[in-house]
Amino acid sequence: MSFLIDLECGACGEHHAADELQNLCPACGKPLLARYDLTSAGQTLTKEALELREPTLWRYREVLPVREDDYIVSLGEGGTPLVHTDRLGETLGMDALYIKDESLNPTGSFKARGLCMAVSRAAELGATALAIPSAGNAAGAMAAYAAKAGLPAYVFMPRDTPAAFIIECYAHGAHVELIDGLITDCGQIVAERKDQEGWFDVSTLKEP
Ligand SMILES: [Zn+2]
Repeated sequence: MSFLIDLECGACGEHHAADELQNLCPACGKPLLARYDLTSAGQTLTKEALELREPTLWRYREVLPVREDDYIVSLGEGGTPLVHTDRLGETLGMDALYIKDESLNPTGSFKARGLCMAVSRAAELGATALAIPSAGNAAGAMAAYAAKAGLPAYVFMPRDTPAAFIIECYAHGAHVELIDGLITDCGQIVAERKDQEGWFDVSTLKEP
């Protein structure tokens, strides 16, 4: 189970309800952070218990925000290998230099982790469509997890985004709009249209 308590603004410290859809802090416009009852979570989230669990992101269940298991939207994210870099380590004079190979996540980057969680939790809280401005990996991850969740995905990308990222979004069935502008312009479009269109904005750092 999740030991999520509430959402706390990292800037002004104000607390907000965790069980409703939230973006930025309503008081000051800065990102919200999820707070957990770590004392209670620590009762079951022990080193011994972790070793027995599936090696995915979800083994940290107690400190993840999804309340009901039915809402977990998983493609097998997390549990990526730590690769010991013998030769690079030797060059740099480091015996224990490891690289975490996040490219082995389901959509090829660490963005699968955050978007897995954002999509799962947004679905649990009743979101019916998701939107994101992105010039790359976040868009592909959102499109994949939204597809798995059965939610429509609206992706806004700068027109000069590398083709592979655009194709990935189309392949996952997302509605893709290419914008003549920068990622900030894409973000502006999502911000302007989301209320009218009924989208939940899963922009990086704009969801808790
Ligand atoms: Zn605030």
